Amino acid sequence: MPPSEGVSLLPWAQAEEDIPSGPDPKQLADLQARVDALNTRYRHHSATAVLEGALRDPEAGDIAMVSSFGAESVALLHLVAMVDRSVPVLFIDTLLLFAETLTYQQEIAERLNLSDMHIIRASDEVINQRDPYGALKFTNQDACCLLRKTEPLNQALDGFDGWITGRKRFQSGSRAALEFFELEAETGRIKVNPLAHWAPEDVRAYMDENRLPRHPLVAQGYPSIGCAPCTTKVAEGEDPRSGRWRGQQKEECGIHFGKDGPIRTGAKT
Ligand code: SF4
Repeated sequence: MPPSEGVSLLPWAQAEEDIPSGPDPKQLADLQARVDALNTRYRHHSATAVLEGALRDPEAGDIAMVSSFGAESVALLHLVAMVDRSVPVLFIDTLLLFAETLTYQQEIAERLNLSDMHIIRASDEVINQRDPYGALKFTNQDACCLLRKTEPLNQALDGFDGWITGRKRFQSGSRAALEFFELEAETGRIKVNPLAHWAPEDVRAYMDENRLPRHPLVAQGYPSIGCAPCTTKVAEGEDPRSGRWRGQQKEECGIHFGKDGPIRTGAKT
């Protein structure tokens, strides 16, 4: 099935306070035991082996992939497509992305033949209620990310036991001990991080070896790419993620859930 036929647009009128309260302590303990077992089972395995395990191991449950189709996303998308191109791929369109990102998303989805592509958006109704003038991106960025990213993604992940992320240990101090599998305590979902041990050069080498197309904005000075109003070019020698929310204290992308909103992770991905 062509990607366009697999796309679903998910309206969401859910309010911030409707985010689930999360699993109870007994459930959390059971989930943590599953995660520990998975990490023991797949320790020292390759990214591909971890992906295959996550998608086929009953301990991991039903898994979706979440991708921003940003600067490095194509590496993990390609790995996933090699294992199973029918894995559900969720792409959050905040309606404030660069036009180049939207074009790139379509190009990559078609090239990799991703057959279960989902475009996730907050509904017009909710945006009109909570951000009628489009000012939140200037006045309250955490609320803007919650409205346009966290809440729609949380709803889209409802029914999945876990999700695949592209997070890596090198990205920040808070990710220095990142494991292949981790428990998202706020939702009870398992996060799968197949590239946890990859270095920046591993990502570049993988993209080169597989001749994967780069996001067009990388060549224009954007090594990390989010929403257009919150992403600037990065000068040589700067941290690659310094162009995200430049000049603001905000440091996370907003898709790591908590009952009180996005969890600060110290990483701009
Ligand atoms: S990154 Fe900026 S524009 Fe995008 S949702 Fe967050 S605050 Fe809003």
